[in-house]
Amino acid sequence: MLKRTDPLGQGEFGSRQDLRNTLLAGGILTSGLGAMSIASAQQLIALQVPPRATLLITLFSFLITFVGLLALRWSVPVRPLIYVTLISYTAIITALVHLTGGPMTPVPALYLVVVVAASFLLGIQGAYLIAGLSLIGYAVILYLEYRGILTMVPIWELTFAPEERGPLLVVNWLTLALPTLTTAFLAGTLAERWKRTNRHLRESERLRAGLTNMLIHDLRNPLSALMGALELLEMSGGETMPDEQAELLRYAQESGERLLQLINTMLDLARMEAGRFEPTWEPVEVAPLVEEVAEEASLSATLEEQHIELRLEPSLPSTYCDGQLLRRVLGNLLANAVKYSPPGGTIRVQVMRQGDQLRFDVIDHGPGIPAAYRELIFDKFSQVRRSDMRRGTGLGLAFCKMAVEAVGGRIWVESEEGQGSTFSFLIPLRSAPPTQS
Ligand code: ADP
Repeated sequence: MLKRTDPLGQGEFGSRQDLRNTLLAGGILTSGLGAMSIASAQQLIALQVPPRATLLITLFSFLITFVGLLALRWSVPVRPLIYVTLISYTAIITALVHLTGGPMTPVPALYLVVVVAASFLLGIQGAYLIAGLSLIGYAVILYLEYRGILTMVPIWELTFAPEERGPLLVVNWLTLALPTLTTAFLAGTLAERWKRTNRHLRESERLRAGLTNMLIHDLRNPLSALMGALELLEMSGGETMPDEQAELLRYAQESGERLLQLINTMLDLARMEAGRFEPTWEPVEVAPLVEEVAEEASLSATLEEQHIELRLEPSLPSTYCDGQLLRRVLGNLLANAVKYSPPGGTIRVQVMRQGDQLRFDVIDHGPGIPAAYRELIFDKFSQVRRSDMRRGTGLGLAFCKMAVEAVGGRIWVESEEGQGSTFSFLIPLRSAPPTQS
């Protein structure tokens, strides 16, 4: 089982993501229409729709989808794009309604899809706008067919003379109007409530994060004072202390150190998430840095009867990076490898050049990570919970991911359950600090 924080959805109308989904749905529906018109042109199905006109509409609809998706990439303002898309789809459906037999087919139900899309893209007013346009379009088609200005397309040989069936056409229009308006009302209300809830959630999440960060920050000062006092105690009486007290003092210092590290990680994560973190760019000699980190980790590895093996490519170049950050990322990965591997194994650290990047691998022969969790463990507070695993905080890998990305790299894991894991990351080789990140 995995614990993870759920990312909040969109809190505002007019999101690019929602428009992209709508355009993709439009593309899928258009493919169906294309297949139908080709099949009827080949007389594979007994629809007497004019194939040329339906093909033309299919192409136009594809064009809307294509241009819409392209415009989204060009960062065209999204709201006008939404209006153009929805109104174009409504017009296309109106033409299609006429070409596929007007009031005698279920094709007018397609308007409902656009109304639902409008609800989620624009809210209830947008839903009513599209519902209104759909009903006007449909009324125009019925009227033109009734007056004989447009010839009703015969379908399934069920055609009837519309000029004789005025009241029937009004009833037909109403059978579309009622569900369309009801859909606009229901989907619009639902979308408004959903967006409102998300806005509240985002706001309270922001407040909660702010308060937590303030609290964590305020914890640091008394903890630093405590650590200082413990150090003074050690300096003034450490040597003469009975063994038992010296042991307790060491235990208190180690726990305090761990707590301080945790607080610093949480503060760094908060800064990175808020985009307020700027790496300290400095020339970093990679090989000595890796050796030092491995040396530090080897203390706990030895306790677990594990061995850390280094494989560093000869004459690794130095690079501009944040040395402290790199040290902590590597330290975290090594600490995890030690923590999650059984006693007696070997953990390997490899560093090599890969094109214009440096590649770091930390390889262990621990329990591995199930496929479903390989992405998720890089989220905050995510842990693969297993009875044979020791509990941590779930922050280490989230920190590693953000830190590696902050210096322009990427991190990933490859693993086979029961065989072990390889955590790898790449960072760019730089001969100077980036101009402005
Ligand atoms: P923590 O180790 O404090 O729980 P991390 O973010 O460092 O937090 O790791 C998240 C989870 O990923 C761990 O709880 C563990 O389930 C899994 N994990 C990390 N590294 C390894 C590893 N080398 N082998 C197996 N599982 C690992």
